[in-house]
Amino acid sequence: MEKDILNNSVDRSWIEKWKKPITISGPCSAENEQQLLETARRLDHTYVQIFRAGIWKPRTKPNNFEGIGKEGLRWLKKVKKHTGFLVATEIANAEHVKLALSFDIDVLWIGARSTASPFTVQEIADSLEGVEDKIILVKNPIHPDIELWIGALERLFIKGVRKLGIIHRGFSPYKKLKYRNQPNWNLLLEFHKILPRIPRICDPSHICGNKEGILDIAKIAYHFQYDGLMIESHCDPENAWSDAQQQITPEQLLDILKKLTVSKNYTNKTKNDLNSLRILIDEIDENIIALLSERMKISKQLGILKKSYDISILQPDRWKKIMNKSILLGKKLGLSEKLLEGFFKLLHQESINIQNKI
Ligand code: PEP
Ligand code: MN
Repeated sequence: MEKDILNNSVDRSWIEKWKKPITISGPCSAENEQQLLETARRLDHTYVQIFRAGIWKPRTKPNNFEGIGKEGLRWLKKVKKHTGFLVATEIANAEHVKLALSFDIDVLWIGARSTASPFTVQEIADSLEGVEDKIILVKNPIHPDIELWIGALERLFIKGVRKLGIIHRGFSPYKKLKYRNQPNWNLLLEFHKILPRIPRICDPSHICGNKEGILDIAKIAYHFQYDGLMIESHCDPENAWSDAQQQITPEQLLDILKKLTVSKNYTNKTKNDLNSLRILIDEIDENIIALLSERMKISKQLGILKKSYDISILQPDRWKKIMNKSILLGKKLGLSEKLLEGFFKLLHQESINIQNKI
């Protein structure tokens, strides 16, 4: 499918009627009617436009709370009636779509695990055929595959869905360093270059997996002029049935959103351009640190093995091989020999120190 057609035909009116960035907030999961109503009542209408709650929850392991199901849709409808918020929930199959539509839910989002499956996305798209008034948001797939993500939008578009948007909720890391789901600002910038008209929403809650990081991630999204934020809030976060560690109270949310608008600075172009690149550098540095830590852990295991087999720590042949191989690869990628040599010497020395301590 031509990307231009998708880009030019997307209907942005649903998000442009509000001042940027909009906020989608509400609990990870609907638990009971009172919890939804209380959370919604405590959310500030000047900052929050859409109320969210998960009805069907995709959990990593079995035997966890997997969502309250259909009954929660009735509560969401009540929230809409009593507070005036648009309401949103996650859908993961045709049955969910059918039920959500029958309760007139305004915004349906496809979760990260679902976006990763073309069968699931196709089933959802088929069941949305001819539905023009609903807003459909597509979370990034759990792995950083831009084309798969765009493919999900295309599947919806082909069936006539125009009110689209994407949600950046981070990507599954092998080892968690700082984030529950690693953000990838670089990938999102690339996405924005390909499809600049698709509304972009950032979900700091699922990126961070904690409360403390939410403001910093929201600031970066703000810096990159995202159209909106999705942040989980709960009237009693400590006792939430899912994602308790990352949910905040409606009042804490307001505090964050106020701080965000104060930090606004789109006017100084030079400063903005510098900051954009610094954010990308910081992201890569964090990844380098994570990899270094993994490397040193393996070095240590190697040291233990060398000791038990009574092999000497310094293996000149192996070291020469690493050095040559790395310089060759690095030079192909445009790095200077001096940098590569210096870096690998340091790394090697550190490995030896670690193994010497054993
Ligand atoms: C959620 O929004 O509660 C959720 C399950 O999100 P994700 O698909 O990003 O994991
Ligand atoms: Mn959640």
